[in-house]
Amino acid sequence: MDDCVFCKIVRGELPADVVYETADLLAFRDINPQAPTHVLLIPKKHFTFLDELQRDDLKLAGELLLAASEVAAKLGVAGAYKLVTNCGEAAGQVVPHLHFHLLAGKKFAP
Ligand code: AMP
Ligand code: ZN
Repeated sequence: MDDCVFCKIVRGELPADVVYETADLLAFRDINPQAPTHVLLIPKKHFTFLDELQRDDLKLAGELLLAASEVAAKLGVAGAYKLVTNCGEAAGQVVPHLHFHLLAGKKFAP
């Protein structure tokens, strides 16, 4: 998507503090962190949100989940993080490119 902020990061047109990258995925630090560790994990391919994933994307969906665990381990927060995706504006989604927030390093409410 030409004017999508996260697609621009994928294309290298906007800077990002990248912490993890594969052929299909990218993780970078959130520009406005809500926790000491706040990383966004995205597929490089543009999907607006989770509901756009199809059965054909099963491998990518699985890779996203495993990557979240790998990113957490890489950042030293394995077993101590929250993984969140906002699906749609009503849920608070602001950037319309599928992303998971990986948050850690502070006490979260149960
Ligand atoms: P959401 O409300 O789930 O759409 O979250 C979007 C997140 O993207 C917010 O936490 C923003 O701080 C973050 N964000 C927006 N633009 C950038 C950017 N250029 N680099 C890193 N994080 C960003
Ligand atoms: Zn995009």
